[in-house]
Amino acid sequence: MRFAFLVHPVADSAAQFIKLDEGGVLRKLWGTDPLRLTGALHKVVQQVMAGADEPSVAEVRVVDELPNLVTPRGATAHGRLYEIPMGAMAILEDPDRALGYIQQAVQQAVDWGARIVGLGSMTGIVGGRGTVVAEQSPVAVTTGNSLTAYTALQNVFETAAELNIDLAQETVAVVGIPGSIASVAATLIAPHCGRLILVGRRASGPAQRLANQLSADFITDVAEAIKQATIVISATSSGSCIEQAWLQPGTLVVDVGVPTDVRGVAAERDDVLILTGGLIRVPDAMSQASRMLWFQHGMIPSCLGETMLLALENREECYSLGRELQPEAVQEIGSIARRQGFDFSRLYSFGCPLGDDALVRFQKTRARIASKSRRSVTANGASPPTPRQLADRAARLYARYINPVLMAMNGASGLLETFARGEGEYLYDAAGKKYLDFVAGFGSLNLGHNHPAVAAAVNTAIREQAPGFTPTSVNPYAATLAEKLVSKAPSGLEMVFFCNSGTEAVEASIKLARAATGRTGLLSCDGAFHGKSMGSLSVTGNPGYQRAFQPLVGDCQRIPYGDFEALERTLSTRQFAAFIVEPIQAEGGIRMAPAGYLREAQSICRSTETLLIVDEVQTGMGRTGMTFAVEHEDVHPDAMTLAKSLGGGLMPIGAMLCRRDLWMKAYGTVATCTLHTSTFGGGSLATAAGLAALDVLENERLAENAACRGEQLLEGLSQIAKRFRCVKQVRGRGLLLGVEFNPLQSNVKSHWLQIDPTGMARYIASEVGQMIDAFHVLHAMQTLMQGHSIYTQFTRSNPLVLRIEPPLTITEAQTQEFLIAFEKTCEEIDFIVSIIGEMIAKTSVGKHDAAQRAGFTPADSAQ
Ligand code: PMP
Repeated sequence: MRFAFLVHPVADSAAQFIKLDEGGVLRKLWGTDPLRLTGALHKVVQQVMAGADEPSVAEVRVVDELPNLVTPRGATAHGRLYEIPMGAMAILEDPDRALGYIQQAVQQAVDWGARIVGLGSMTGIVGGRGTVVAEQSPVAVTTGNSLTAYTALQNVFETAAELNIDLAQETVAVVGIPGSIASVAATLIAPHCGRLILVGRRASGPAQRLANQLSADFITDVAEAIKQATIVISATSSGSCIEQAWLQPGTLVVDVGVPTDVRGVAAERDDVLILTGGLIRVPDAMSQASRMLWFQHGMIPSCLGETMLLALENREECYSLGRELQPEAVQEIGSIARRQGFDFSRLYSFGCPLGDDALVRFQKTRARIASKSRRSVTANGASPPTPRQLADRAARLYARYINPVLMAMNGASGLLETFARGEGEYLYDAAGKKYLDFVAGFGSLNLGHNHPAVAAAVNTAIREQAPGFTPTSVNPYAATLAEKLVSKAPSGLEMVFFCNSGTEAVEASIKLARAATGRTGLLSCDGAFHGKSMGSLSVTGNPGYQRAFQPLVGDCQRIPYGDFEALERTLSTRQFAAFIVEPIQAEGGIRMAPAGYLREAQSICRSTETLLIVDEVQTGMGRTGMTFAVEHEDVHPDAMTLAKSLGGGLMPIGAMLCRRDLWMKAYGTVATCTLHTSTFGGGSLATAAGLAALDVLENERLAENAACRGEQLLEGLSQIAKRFRCVKQVRGRGLLLGVEFNPLQSNVKSHWLQIDPTGMARYIASEVGQMIDAFHVLHAMQTLMQGHSIYTQFTRSNPLVLRIEPPLTITEAQTQEFLIAFEKTCEEIDFIVSIIGEMIAKTSVGKHDAAQRAGFTPADSAQ
């Protein structure tokens, strides 16, 4: 259905501004060429500033077209925006002239075929709030005020939910009584809030009646009312009636007034939150439909939204006319909006998206006030949030407080999931949907999620009131775990240092090496990953992780992984305290060294009196098919690091095991015995979990299962790799496997860079190039997640490699399920890439390729 929406220039200078663009240059460039647009804007601004060219002809005109609007439910509409040549103040000063223009605009819209006309902002106020226009209009008319009121309330509810504000404890002032939006908003907020104050310019009969009906106070002194309120909803037609200075700290203001009610063009204080109420977001697919939708990123005034929705629903009926809006109509239009995919959750302030920083500062102010008045900030009288709402909120908090960029990237690639629960090999989302976990916390979940035996051990320790942390005293749990670890570890490793993470275990090992040998050099491998604290980072072989933190620990050197000769040559200098190495480079892309590498490394280390530190943080605890990966080659390192699954998937714990003589050399005197310590290291709960984890590993024969399932996977994946072009190689051992994908075909990649609509890719090409290369991996992760409910990740230091790293408890059937899903995924990737490749080949970009494939030689085509 066709609809029209009437607007007026927001400010008189804007009318002048638009008038100056008579040739339509700005409008043509809008959304197409930002650089030229800026130049053109600059010229027009200069003319406006010089006061040039007062608008001459005043007439109604079409300022925007909204064609092909389609909602996710398939509803369609086509709209036009008509502008009358009078600004807000002019309309209020001369309503009759304005009504004349409004009627002209309605007529033009009707002639065009509009079946409903919406009256934007001031055009909906003059003439009895739409009633006069409606009486004379041959088609339906709406002011859009119902959805505006609904949106204002949603802004309050959204903010309250986001910040755990209990509305029942708040004093709400509604400014603009007896205006239509203010009155219905007051009626609808009344049941939710503590005290309600209605604010109007003078005490009228309707205002007083509403106050009585809602058991509210009626106040005519705006400043006085505002000072008492903690939440303000403001919807007046006069504008500029609220000074920011009047607001008490911690006040939330939702300003739906047009012109705006709160004075100023930006927030002047960070202890209050002033929202631009009355904005709603159209469904994603619509946001490119017109200049206006594009420019505002799909955020539109709700009055336009209401008109659009009535047209989308083919409802040719008058709505929201007059001073008395019906609460039922407000609720109805709100639910229509939700049904059609419109969104109320984005908060704006002074016309811009509300930044997390403003929200955080406001939150802190509220918390400070609450703690002073000893009020609870968490008790929220509203109905308890659904699991989905909790998950969405968690994702927002994660982005706000933990890692905005990672969240944005994952969100954009469809990989963002908030898992609400984990059990065994499965993760569950908020809706209870389950996902097979093939990431296993990067190797922290060898026993699966929440293994009952580990949970029981931790619970028992709590029940028995195990001592918390007892630095320098004896902790029985730690003592027993140390004994058990030594009994399982390769012979020679007799001393144990407990800490809380992998990187700390690595730190302990390299400090030990320096202290015990008196040498300073630390040798590690390209592509290695040993952790991100300074020492571990210094021996990590990824310059990308190191660059920002230079200078790192001195005397660290790297050699290629698996290179016997380089190892021998470098260590022959006898300047190195230790060579630290992973049995399989997990983060580096599941890279394997040639067979016999560790054994050879051991003998080179022995002959050059260099310590061999094997980092088993990820390969340990059964992951590769043996309890420790060194067992495959019967290697006996001088020190070994453990973490991740040592905590049984429930507790953080790390451990460094080493030879007794080395420990004694480093820490074997009164002066040195406490040189390297950790407050939390060896805490009761972590070591209780460690003990249980080792038991489970043994009782459930998890290493054996890892070997079996690993074989099954390796065999299945290798078969798949042979059939699909996108896969380059499959490798790994036990359940530490990787699938290396080929980079995206070069013709598809270069085409992609060329069609990049913003041109931004070219500016950040190096990083974008890498991401585009990893297209297949991202595609695989996405398809596995969304199409097959399997959670996977790539290896961080090598984004072309998909890691296959499920819990070691995985069954034969689950393994088969993964293989089937992976096969389908590769099939899909190859299919899509071949279609894209074909399309490119048939355009000029890939001409030669197409000719070759069709059997022509370049010489043929030249003839
Ligand atoms: N070493 C290796 C081999 C690892 O895989 C990791 C973690 N991926 C670490 C050390 C660092 O462990 P953490 O993240 O617990 O510090």
